[in-house]
Amino acid sequence: MAEETYDVAVIGGGPGGYVAAIVAAQAGMRTVCIESRETLGGTCLNVGCIPSKTLLHWSDRYHEAGHGFAEHGIKIGKLELDLKAMMANKTKVIDTFTAGIGFLFKKNKIDHLFGKGTLTGGDGIAVALNDGGRAAVKAKNIIIATGSVPADIPNVPIDEKRIVSSTGALALAKVPKSLVVIGGGYIGLELGSVWRRLGSEVTVVEFLDRLVPTMDSELAKNYSRLLKKQGFAFKLGTKVTEAKVTARGVALMLEPAAGGEAEKMTADVVLVSVGRMPFTEGLGLEDAGVALDSHGFITVDDRFRTNLANVYAIGDVIPGPMLAHKAMVEAAAVVEIIGGQHGMVNYEVIPAVVYTEPEVAWVGRTEDELRDAGIAYKSGSFPFTANSRAKTVGHTDGLAKVLTDAATDRILGVHIMSTEAGSLIAEAALAMEFGGSAEDIARTCHAHPTLSEAVLEAASLAAFGKAIHM
Ligand code: FAD
Repeated sequence: MAEETYDVAVIGGGPGGYVAAIVAAQAGMRTVCIESRETLGGTCLNVGCIPSKTLLHWSDRYHEAGHGFAEHGIKIGKLELDLKAMMANKTKVIDTFTAGIGFLFKKNKIDHLFGKGTLTGGDGIAVALNDGGRAAVKAKNIIIATGSVPADIPNVPIDEKRIVSSTGALALAKVPKSLVVIGGGYIGLELGSVWRRLGSEVTVVEFLDRLVPTMDSELAKNYSRLLKKQGFAFKLGTKVTEAKVTARGVALMLEPAAGGEAEKMTADVVLVSVGRMPFTEGLGLEDAGVALDSHGFITVDDRFRTNLANVYAIGDVIPGPMLAHKAMVEAAAVVEIIGGQHGMVNYEVIPAVVYTEPEVAWVGRTEDELRDAGIAYKSGSFPFTANSRAKTVGHTDGLAKVLTDAATDRILGVHIMSTEAGSLIAEAALAMEFGGSAEDIARTCHAHPTLSEAVLEAASLAAFGKAIHM
Protein backbone atom coordinates (compact mmCIF):
# COMPACT_ATOMS: atom_id res chain seq x y z
CA MET A 1 0.00 0.00 0.00
CA ALA A 2 1.31 3.44 -0.88
CA GLU A 3 2.31 5.70 1.99
CA GLU A 4 -0.48 8.16 2.79
CA THR A 5 -0.48 11.36 4.81
CA TYR A 6 -3.56 11.68 6.97
CA ASP A 7 -4.71 14.52 9.18
CA VAL A 8 -5.48 11.99 11.92
CA ALA A 9 -4.43 8.38 12.48
CA VAL A 10 -6.13 6.57 15.34
CA ILE A 11 -4.54 3.43 16.78
CA GLY A 12 -7.27 1.25 18.31
CA GLY A 13 -10.84 0.77 17.11
CA GLY A 14 -12.66 0.65 20.47
CA PRO A 15 -15.17 3.25 21.74
CA GLY A 16 -12.33 5.76 22.17
CA GLY A 17 -10.73 5.07 18.79
CA TYR A 18 -13.73 4.56 16.53
CA VAL A 19 -15.56 7.59 17.96
CA ALA A 20 -12.43 9.75 17.51
CA ALA A 21 -12.18 8.55 13.90
CA ILE A 22 -15.84 9.36 13.15
CA VAL A 23 -15.75 12.77 14.84
CA ALA A 24 -12.51 13.63 12.99
CA ALA A 25 -13.96 12.57 9.63
CA GLN A 26 -17.15 14.51 10.30
CA ALA A 27 -14.96 17.57 10.95
CA GLY A 28 -13.47 17.14 7.48
CA MET A 29 -10.17 15.57 8.55
CA ARG A 30 -8.66 12.81 6.42
CA THR A 31 -8.69 9.91 8.87
CA VAL A 32 -7.41 6.35 9.22
CA CYS A 33 -8.07 3.90 12.07
CA ILE A 34 -5.76 0.96 12.76
CA GLU A 35 -7.15 -2.00 14.74
CA SER A 36 -5.33 -5.22 15.58
CA ARG A 37 -8.47 -7.36 16.23
CA GLU A 38 -10.35 -8.94 13.35
CA THR A 39 -13.31 -6.66 14.09
CA LEU A 40 -13.89 -3.05 15.11
CA GLY A 41 -15.46 -1.98 18.43
CA GLY A 42 -12.64 -2.83 20.86
CA THR A 43 -13.16 -4.42 24.25
CA CYS A 44 -16.59 -2.82 24.62
CA LEU A 45 -18.29 -4.37 21.61
CA ASN A 46 -16.32 -7.61 21.36
CA VAL A 47 -15.70 -8.79 24.94
CA GLY A 48 -17.09 -6.11 27.27
CA CYS A 49 -20.16 -3.90 27.58
CA ILE A 50 -22.25 -5.35 24.77
CA PRO A 51 -21.85 -9.13 25.30
CA SER A 52 -22.11 -8.72 29.09
CA LYS A 53 -25.28 -6.62 28.86
CA THR A 54 -26.82 -9.05 26.38
CA LEU A 55 -26.20 -11.98 28.73
CA LEU A 56 -27.31 -9.93 31.75
CA HIS A 57 -30.60 -9.07 30.08
CA TRP A 58 -31.50 -12.56 28.90
CA SER A 59 -30.25 -14.37 31.99
CA ASP A 60 -32.46 -11.98 33.98
CA ARG A 61 -35.48 -12.84 31.80
CA TYR A 62 -34.73 -16.55 32.26
CA HIS A 63 -34.45 -16.18 36.02
CA GLU A 64 -37.55 -14.02 36.28
CA ALA A 65 -39.54 -16.49 34.18
CA GLY A 66 -38.51 -19.22 36.63
CA HIS A 67 -38.87 -17.30 39.87
CA GLY A 68 -40.82 -14.07 39.41
CA PHE A 69 -43.72 -14.71 37.03
CA ALA A 70 -45.91 -17.08 39.05
CA GLU A 71 -46.93 -14.50 41.67
CA HIS A 72 -48.14 -12.24 38.85
CA GLY A 73 -50.36 -14.96 37.45
CA ILE A 74 -48.11 -16.28 34.70
CA LYS A 75 -47.49 -19.98 34.88
CA ILE A 76 -44.76 -21.55 32.82
CA GLY A 77 -44.63 -25.31 32.38
CA LYS A 78 -41.13 -26.62 32.04
CA LEU A 79 -38.62 -23.82 31.79
CA GLU A 80 -35.53 -24.82 29.85
CA LEU A 81 -32.22 -23.11 29.26
CA ASP A 82 -30.67 -23.36 25.80
CA LEU A 83 -27.27 -21.90 26.59
CA LYS A 84 -25.99 -22.49 23.06
CA ALA A 85 -28.82 -20.37 21.65
CA MET A 86 -28.28 -17.68 24.31
CA MET A 87 -24.61 -17.49 23.34
CA ALA A 88 -25.44 -17.50 19.62
CA ASN A 89 -27.77 -14.55 20.17
CA LYS A 90 -24.98 -12.74 22.03
CA THR A 91 -22.62 -13.35 19.09
CA LYS A 92 -25.26 -12.07 16.66
CA VAL A 93 -25.62 -8.84 18.65
CA ILE A 94 -21.82 -8.39 18.69
CA ASP A 95 -21.54 -9.08 14.96
CA THR A 96 -24.29 -6.58 14.13
CA PHE A 97 -22.58 -3.82 16.07
CA THR A 98 -19.00 -4.51 14.98
CA ALA A 99 -20.12 -4.62 11.33
CA GLY A 100 -22.10 -1.43 12.02
CA ILE A 101 -18.89 0.41 12.91
CA GLY A 102 -17.44 -0.72 9.56
CA PHE A 103 -20.52 0.74 7.88
CA LEU A 104 -20.10 4.05 9.76
CA PHE A 105 -16.44 4.17 8.69
CA LYS A 106 -17.45 3.70 5.08
CA LYS A 107 -20.18 6.31 5.35
CA ASN A 108 -17.72 8.82 6.81
CA LYS A 109 -14.96 7.87 4.31
CA ILE A 110 -12.60 6.67 7.03
CA ASP A 111 -9.85 4.27 5.96
CA HIS A 112 -9.20 1.37 8.27
CA LEU A 113 -6.44 -1.16 8.47
CA PHE A 114 -6.67 -4.41 10.40
CA GLY A 115 -3.21 -4.85 11.90
CA LYS A 116 -0.94 -3.85 14.73
CA GLY A 117 0.28 -0.26 14.72
CA THR A 118 3.71 0.77 15.95
CA LEU A 119 4.98 4.34 16.20
CA THR A 120 8.09 4.80 14.09
CA GLY A 121 8.90 8.33 15.20
CA GLY A 122 7.69 11.70 13.94
CA ASP A 123 4.50 11.29 11.97
CA GLY A 124 5.02 7.62 11.06
CA ILE A 125 3.19 4.43 12.00
CA ALA A 126 4.17 0.96 10.77
CA VAL A 127 1.30 -1.49 10.53
CA ALA A 128 1.84 -5.26 10.62
CA LEU A 129 -1.32 -6.28 8.76
CA ASN A 130 -3.37 -9.19 10.14
CA ASP A 131 -3.50 -10.87 6.75
CA GLY A 132 0.26 -10.58 6.26
CA GLY A 133 2.35 -7.78 4.83
CA ARG A 134 3.04 -4.33 6.17
CA ALA A 135 1.71 -0.85 5.59
CA ALA A 136 3.20 2.52 6.42
CA VAL A 137 0.97 5.40 7.48
CA LYS A 138 1.87 9.04 7.94
CA ALA A 139 -0.33 11.37 9.94
CA LYS A 140 -0.07 14.94 11.21
CA ASN A 141 -1.83 13.88 14.42
CA ILE A 142 -1.76 10.44 16.04
CA ILE A 143 -4.34 9.40 18.64
CA ILE A 144 -3.49 6.33 20.73
CA ALA A 145 -6.63 4.52 21.94
CA THR A 146 -5.29 1.04 22.58
CA GLY A 147 -7.41 0.43 25.67
CA SER A 148 -6.85 -2.13 28.37
CA VAL A 149 -6.67 -5.86 29.10
CA PRO A 150 -7.71 -7.91 32.17
CA ALA A 151 -5.26 -7.84 35.08
CA ASP A 152 -4.15 -11.10 36.64
CA ILE A 153 -2.76 -12.19 40.01
CA PRO A 154 0.22 -14.35 40.93
CA ASN A 155 -0.30 -18.14 41.10
CA VAL A 156 -3.70 -17.98 39.42
CA PRO A 157 -2.90 -18.84 35.77
CA ILE A 158 -5.75 -17.97 33.39
CA ASP A 159 -6.43 -20.74 30.81
CA GLU A 160 -9.85 -19.32 29.69
CA LYS A 161 -11.40 -22.75 30.36
CA ARG A 162 -11.39 -23.43 34.10
CA ILE A 163 -9.69 -20.25 35.25
CA VAL A 164 -11.14 -17.52 33.12
CA SER A 165 -10.92 -13.76 32.65
CA SER A 166 -14.06 -11.77 31.81
CA THR A 167 -13.52 -12.81 28.18
CA GLY A 168 -13.76 -16.53 29.03
CA ALA A 169 -16.67 -15.93 31.43
CA LEU A 170 -18.67 -14.46 28.53
CA ALA A 171 -18.34 -17.68 26.55
CA LEU A 172 -18.56 -20.69 28.90
CA ALA A 173 -19.93 -23.73 27.09
CA LYS A 174 -21.92 -24.95 30.08
CA VAL A 175 -23.23 -23.56 33.35
CA PRO A 176 -20.63 -24.25 36.06
CA LYS A 177 -22.03 -25.90 39.17
CA SER A 178 -19.91 -23.57 41.27
CA LEU A 179 -18.19 -20.36 40.29
CA VAL A 180 -15.67 -18.47 42.40
CA VAL A 181 -15.30 -14.84 41.36
CA ILE A 182 -12.04 -13.27 42.49
CA GLY A 183 -12.77 -9.55 42.86
CA GLY A 184 -15.95 -7.79 43.99
CA GLY A 185 -15.89 -5.02 41.39
CA TYR A 186 -18.60 -4.34 38.82
CA ILE A 187 -17.39 -6.80 36.16
CA GLY A 188 -17.18 -9.70 38.64
CA LEU A 189 -20.62 -8.95 40.07
CA GLU A 190 -22.23 -8.59 36.64
CA LEU A 191 -20.77 -11.83 35.30
CA GLY A 192 -21.38 -13.56 38.65
CA SER A 193 -25.04 -12.48 38.31
CA VAL A 194 -25.28 -13.95 34.81
CA TRP A 195 -24.08 -17.39 35.92
CA ARG A 196 -25.96 -17.36 39.25
CA ARG A 197 -29.21 -16.71 37.38
CA LEU A 198 -28.42 -19.58 35.03
CA GLY A 199 -27.86 -21.93 37.98
CA SER A 200 -24.30 -21.61 39.37
CA GLU A 201 -23.50 -21.32 43.06
CA VAL A 202 -21.46 -18.12 43.11
CA THR A 203 -18.93 -17.09 45.76
CA VAL A 204 -17.19 -13.75 45.47
CA VAL A 205 -13.78 -13.47 47.15
CA GLU A 206 -12.78 -9.85 47.70
CA PHE A 207 -9.60 -8.49 49.26
CA LEU A 208 -11.32 -5.39 50.70
CA ASP A 209 -14.03 -5.57 53.34
CA ARG A 210 -16.67 -4.22 50.94
CA LEU A 211 -17.87 -4.47 47.34
CA VAL A 212 -17.28 -1.95 44.51
CA PRO A 213 -15.05 0.52 46.38
CA THR A 214 -16.16 3.52 44.28
CA MET A 215 -19.84 3.01 45.22
CA ASP A 216 -21.38 5.16 47.99
CA SER A 217 -20.92 3.04 51.13
CA GLU A 218 -24.59 3.29 52.23
CA LEU A 219 -25.71 1.89 48.89
CA ALA A 220 -22.89 -0.67 48.88
CA LYS A 221 -24.11 -2.03 52.22
CA ASN A 222 -27.71 -2.34 51.02
CA TYR A 223 -26.52 -3.74 47.71
CA SER A 224 -24.45 -6.54 49.23
CA ARG A 225 -27.45 -7.45 51.47
CA LEU A 226 -29.66 -7.73 48.36
CA LEU A 227 -27.10 -9.80 46.46
CA LYS A 228 -26.82 -12.16 49.46
CA LYS A 229 -30.61 -12.53 49.43
CA GLN A 230 -30.32 -13.52 45.76
CA GLY A 231 -27.92 -16.31 46.70
CA PHE A 232 -24.45 -14.75 46.28
CA ALA A 233 -21.93 -15.84 48.93
CA PHE A 234 -19.21 -13.37 49.87
CA LYS A 235 -15.80 -13.83 51.40
CA LEU A 236 -14.73 -10.27 52.09
CA GLY A 237 -11.35 -9.27 53.50
CA THR A 238 -9.95 -12.40 51.88
CA LYS A 239 -7.27 -13.01 49.26
CA VAL A 240 -6.71 -15.91 46.89
CA THR A 241 -3.08 -16.98 47.06
CA GLU A 242 -3.20 -19.87 44.58
CA ALA A 243 -5.51 -21.62 42.14
CA LYS A 244 -4.69 -24.93 40.42
CA VAL A 245 -6.68 -26.80 37.81
CA THR A 246 -7.36 -30.37 38.96
CA ALA A 247 -9.15 -33.34 37.37
CA ARG A 248 -12.43 -32.19 38.96
CA GLY A 249 -12.20 -28.41 38.73
CA VAL A 250 -10.09 -25.80 40.44
CA ALA A 251 -8.48 -25.98 43.89
CA LEU A 252 -8.01 -22.60 45.56
CA MET A 253 -6.02 -21.43 48.56
CA LEU A 254 -7.42 -18.44 50.44
CA GLU A 255 -6.07 -16.31 53.27
CA PRO A 256 -7.50 -13.45 55.33
CA ALA A 257 -6.26 -10.20 53.71
CA ALA A 258 -4.86 -9.11 57.07
CA GLY A 259 -2.97 -12.39 57.44
CA GLY A 260 -4.02 -15.53 59.28
CA GLU A 261 -4.93 -19.13 58.72
CA ALA A 262 -5.12 -20.38 55.13
CA GLU A 263 -8.27 -22.07 53.87
CA LYS A 264 -9.00 -24.39 50.93
CA MET A 265 -11.84 -24.07 48.50
CA THR A 266 -12.87 -25.79 45.27
CA ALA A 267 -14.85 -24.57 42.29
CA ASP A 268 -15.88 -25.75 38.85
CA VAL A 269 -14.75 -22.48 37.33
CA VAL A 270 -12.85 -19.48 38.67
CA LEU A 271 -13.32 -15.99 37.24
CA VAL A 272 -10.38 -13.65 37.80
CA SER A 273 -11.84 -10.18 37.85
CA VAL A 274 -9.35 -8.00 39.66
CA GLY A 275 -9.35 -4.95 37.41
CA ARG A 276 -7.86 -4.00 34.08
CA MET A 277 -4.45 -2.77 32.93
CA PRO A 278 -3.63 -0.22 30.23
CA PHE A 279 -2.47 -1.92 27.02
CA THR A 280 0.54 -0.44 25.22
CA GLU A 281 2.46 -3.55 24.15
CA GLY A 282 3.97 -3.37 20.66
CA LEU A 283 3.19 0.33 20.22
CA GLY A 284 6.88 1.18 20.29
CA LEU A 285 6.35 3.85 22.94
CA GLU A 286 9.77 3.47 24.49
CA ASP A 287 11.59 3.95 21.18
CA ALA A 288 9.30 6.82 20.23
CA GLY A 289 9.90 8.42 23.65
CA VAL A 290 6.27 8.49 24.88
CA ALA A 291 6.15 8.73 28.68
CA LEU A 292 4.14 6.33 30.88
CA ASP A 293 3.26 6.71 34.56
CA SER A 294 4.24 4.18 37.24
CA HIS A 295 1.06 2.11 36.56
CA GLY A 296 1.74 1.87 32.81
CA PHE A 297 -0.83 4.48 31.73
CA ILE A 298 0.19 6.94 29.01
CA THR A 299 0.78 10.34 30.59
CA VAL A 300 -1.21 13.16 28.99
CA ASP A 301 -1.82 16.81 29.80
CA ASP A 302 -5.30 18.33 30.13
CA ARG A 303 -5.47 18.46 26.32
CA PHE A 304 -4.80 14.70 25.96
CA ARG A 305 -1.35 15.44 24.54
CA THR A 306 1.51 13.09 25.42
CA ASN A 307 5.02 14.44 25.83
CA LEU A 308 5.26 14.32 21.98
CA ALA A 309 3.57 17.29 20.32
CA ASN A 310 1.71 15.33 17.62
CA VAL A 311 0.75 12.26 19.71
CA TYR A 312 -2.42 12.19 21.85
CA ALA A 313 -3.98 9.43 23.96
CA ILE A 314 -7.50 8.76 25.22
CA GLY A 315 -9.65 6.06 26.84
CA ASP A 316 -8.58 3.19 29.08
CA VAL A 317 -4.92 3.68 28.17
CA ILE A 318 -4.81 6.98 30.10
CA PRO A 319 -5.70 7.45 33.80
CA GLY A 320 -9.34 7.82 34.89
CA PRO A 321 -12.37 5.56 35.09
CA MET A 322 -12.08 2.67 32.61
CA LEU A 323 -15.47 3.15 30.99
CA ALA A 324 -16.61 3.23 27.39
CA HIS A 325 -18.52 6.51 27.71
CA LYS A 326 -15.49 8.17 29.31
CA ALA A 327 -13.41 7.06 26.29
CA MET A 328 -16.11 8.41 23.94
CA VAL A 329 -16.28 11.90 25.50
CA GLU A 330 -12.48 12.07 25.47
CA ALA A 331 -12.57 11.08 21.78
CA ALA A 332 -14.85 13.99 20.89
CA ALA A 333 -12.78 16.39 23.02
CA VAL A 334 -9.40 15.42 21.59
CA VAL A 335 -10.61 15.84 18.01
CA GLU A 336 -11.97 19.30 18.85
CA ILE A 337 -8.58 20.18 20.32
CA ILE A 338 -6.76 18.90 17.22
CA GLY A 339 -9.16 21.04 15.16
CA GLY A 340 -8.15 24.13 17.14
CA GLN A 341 -11.24 24.25 19.35
CA HIS A 342 -11.63 23.95 23.12
CA GLY A 343 -12.63 20.32 23.69
CA MET A 344 -12.92 19.39 27.33
CA VAL A 345 -14.27 16.63 29.54
CA ASN A 346 -16.04 17.31 32.84
CA TYR A 347 -14.64 14.49 34.96
CA GLU A 348 -16.98 15.51 37.81
CA VAL A 349 -19.89 14.20 35.75
CA ILE A 350 -18.97 10.73 34.49
CA PRO A 351 -21.77 8.33 35.44
CA ALA A 352 -20.99 4.80 36.61
CA VAL A 353 -23.40 1.86 36.43
CA VAL A 354 -23.39 -1.70 37.73
CA TYR A 355 -25.87 -3.58 35.55
CA THR A 356 -27.01 -6.22 38.02
CA GLU A 357 -30.59 -6.47 39.34
CA PRO A 358 -31.09 -4.05 40.96
CA GLU A 359 -28.77 -1.81 38.98
CA VAL A 360 -26.65 0.68 40.89
CA ALA A 361 -25.82 3.97 39.18
CA TRP A 362 -24.19 7.10 40.40
CA VAL A 363 -22.69 10.39 39.28
CA GLY A 364 -20.62 12.95 41.17
CA ARG A 365 -19.41 12.58 44.73
CA THR A 366 -20.31 9.90 47.25
CA GLU A 367 -21.40 10.80 50.78
CA ASP A 368 -18.10 9.35 52.04
CA GLU A 369 -16.11 11.67 49.74
CA LEU A 370 -18.08 14.74 50.84
CA ARG A 371 -17.60 13.83 54.50
CA ASP A 372 -13.84 13.24 54.01
CA ALA A 373 -13.50 16.56 52.17
CA GLY A 374 -15.32 18.38 55.00
CA ILE A 375 -17.99 19.71 52.63
CA ALA A 376 -21.28 20.68 54.31
CA TYR A 377 -23.98 18.81 52.41
CA LYS A 378 -27.64 17.88 52.53
CA SER A 379 -29.01 14.49 51.61
CA GLY A 380 -32.43 13.38 50.40
CA SER A 381 -33.19 9.64 50.11
CA PHE A 382 -36.34 8.07 48.74
CA PRO A 383 -37.02 4.31 48.77
CA PHE A 384 -38.42 2.53 45.70
CA THR A 385 -40.88 0.69 47.98
CA ALA A 386 -42.80 4.01 47.95
CA ASN A 387 -42.58 4.47 44.15
CA SER A 388 -45.74 3.47 42.31
CA ARG A 389 -44.04 2.24 39.12
CA ALA A 390 -41.58 0.09 41.08
CA LYS A 391 -44.58 -1.50 42.80
CA THR A 392 -46.39 -2.15 39.51
CA VAL A 393 -43.40 -3.90 37.94
CA GLY A 394 -42.56 -5.81 41.13
CA HIS A 395 -39.07 -4.34 41.61
CA THR A 396 -39.16 -2.32 44.82
CA ASP A 397 -35.59 -2.91 46.02
CA GLY A 398 -33.40 0.16 46.31
CA LEU A 399 -33.38 3.90 46.83
CA ALA A 400 -32.52 7.21 45.17
CA LYS A 401 -30.24 9.59 47.04
CA VAL A 402 -29.49 13.20 46.09
CA LEU A 403 -26.58 15.00 47.74
CA THR A 404 -26.40 18.79 47.58
CA ASP A 405 -24.23 21.65 48.76
CA ALA A 406 -25.79 22.70 52.09
CA ALA A 407 -25.38 26.40 51.30
CA THR A 408 -26.34 26.58 47.61
CA ASP A 409 -28.47 23.46 46.94
CA ARG A 410 -26.21 22.66 43.95
CA ILE A 411 -26.24 18.92 43.24
CA LEU A 412 -22.95 17.28 44.21
CA GLY A 413 -23.83 13.63 43.70
CA VAL A 414 -26.74 11.33 42.89
CA HIS A 415 -26.84 7.63 43.77
CA ILE A 416 -29.58 5.30 42.59
CA MET A 417 -30.10 1.62 43.28
CA SER A 418 -33.12 0.25 41.43
CA THR A 419 -34.23 -1.58 38.39
CA GLU A 420 -33.25 0.65 35.39
CA ALA A 421 -31.01 2.86 37.57
CA GLY A 422 -28.55 3.07 34.66
CA SER A 423 -31.12 4.95 32.59
CA LEU A 424 -32.40 7.05 35.52
CA ILE A 425 -28.94 8.46 36.22
CA ALA A 426 -28.93 10.41 32.92
CA GLU A 427 -31.29 13.02 34.38
CA ALA A 428 -28.94 13.59 37.30
CA ALA A 429 -25.90 13.85 35.00
CA LEU A 430 -27.67 16.43 32.85
CA ALA A 431 -28.75 18.45 35.89
CA MET A 432 -25.16 18.41 37.21
CA GLU A 433 -23.71 19.34 33.82
CA PHE A 434 -25.99 22.41 33.84
CA GLY A 435 -24.89 23.25 37.40
CA GLY A 436 -28.41 22.40 38.54
CA SER A 437 -29.84 22.35 42.06
CA ALA A 438 -32.02 19.77 43.79
CA GLU A 439 -34.82 22.33 43.60
CA ASP A 440 -34.46 22.32 39.77
CA ILE A 441 -35.17 18.58 39.69
CA ALA A 442 -37.87 18.84 42.36
CA ARG A 443 -39.74 21.54 40.39
CA THR A 444 -39.48 19.66 37.06
CA CYS A 445 -42.64 17.80 36.09
CA HIS A 446 -41.83 14.05 35.95
CA ALA A 447 -44.16 11.66 34.16
CA HIS A 448 -46.36 9.45 36.34
CA PRO A 449 -46.10 6.60 37.05
CA THR A 450 -42.35 6.31 36.41
CA LEU A 451 -39.30 5.25 38.36
CA SER A 452 -37.93 8.76 37.79
CA GLU A 453 -40.42 10.10 40.33
CA ALA A 454 -38.20 8.56 43.03
CA VAL A 455 -35.38 10.88 41.88
CA LEU A 456 -37.80 13.82 42.03
CA GLU A 457 -38.86 12.87 45.58
CA ALA A 458 -35.23 12.45 46.71
CA ALA A 459 -34.40 15.88 45.22
CA SER A 460 -37.43 17.35 46.99
CA LEU A 461 -36.21 15.89 50.28
CA ALA A 462 -32.73 17.37 49.73
CA ALA A 463 -34.09 20.79 48.72
CA PHE A 464 -37.12 21.23 51.00
CA GLY A 465 -36.85 18.42 53.55
CA LYS A 466 -40.13 16.89 52.41
CA ALA A 467 -41.53 14.45 49.86
CA ILE A 468 -45.13 13.84 48.81
CA HIS A 469 -45.20 10.06 49.02
CA MET A 470 -43.23 9.50 52.20
P1 FAD B 1 -10.70 -0.72 24.01
O1 FAD B 1 -12.16 -0.86 23.90
O2 FAD B 1 -9.96 -1.69 24.86
O3 FAD B 1 -10.15 -0.75 22.52
C1 FAD B 1 -8.79 -0.71 22.25
C2 FAD B 1 -8.55 -1.42 20.94
O4 FAD B 1 -7.22 -1.16 20.53
C3 FAD B 1 -8.68 -2.93 21.04
O5 FAD B 1 -9.65 -3.42 20.15
C4 FAD B 1 -7.30 -3.45 20.70
O6 FAD B 1 -7.34 -4.64 19.93
C5 FAD B 1 -6.71 -2.31 19.88
N1 FAD B 1 -5.25 -2.23 19.90
C6 FAD B 1 -4.43 -2.34 20.97
N2 FAD B 1 -3.14 -2.16 20.60
C7 FAD B 1 -3.15 -1.94 19.26
C8 FAD B 1 -2.15 -1.67 18.29
N3 FAD B 1 -0.86 -1.56 18.63
N4 FAD B 1 -2.54 -1.51 17.01
C9 FAD B 1 -3.86 -1.59 16.65
N5 FAD B 1 -4.83 -1.83 17.52
C10 FAD B 1 -4.49 -1.99 18.81
N6 FAD B 1 -17.65 0.13 30.13
C11 FAD B 1 -18.81 0.82 30.22
O7 FAD B 1 -18.80 2.05 30.08
N7 FAD B 1 -20.00 0.20 30.44
C12 FAD B 1 -20.08 -1.14 30.60
O8 FAD B 1 -21.16 -1.68 30.80
C13 FAD B 1 -18.89 -1.90 30.54
N8 FAD B 1 -18.92 -3.24 30.68
C14 FAD B 1 -17.76 -3.95 30.56
C15 FAD B 1 -17.83 -5.33 30.72
C16 FAD B 1 -16.68 -6.09 30.60
C17 FAD B 1 -16.77 -7.57 30.77
C18 FAD B 1 -15.44 -5.45 30.32
C19 FAD B 1 -14.19 -6.26 30.15
C20 FAD B 1 -15.37 -4.08 30.15
C21 FAD B 1 -16.53 -3.32 30.29
N9 FAD B 1 -16.51 -1.92 30.16
C22 FAD B 1 -17.67 -1.21 30.29
C23 FAD B 1 -15.25 -1.19 29.94
C24 FAD B 1 -15.13 -0.78 28.47
O9 FAD B 1 -15.19 -1.91 27.66
C25 FAD B 1 -13.84 -0.02 28.25
O10 FAD B 1 -13.75 1.05 29.17
C26 FAD B 1 -13.76 0.54 26.84
O11 FAD B 1 -13.84 -0.48 25.89
C27 FAD B 1 -12.46 1.33 26.64
O12 FAD B 1 -12.42 1.83 25.36
P2 FAD B 1 -11.02 2.13 24.61
O13 FAD B 1 -11.40 2.58 23.26
O14 FAD B 1 -10.20 2.98 25.47
O15 FAD B 1 -10.28 0.71 24.55
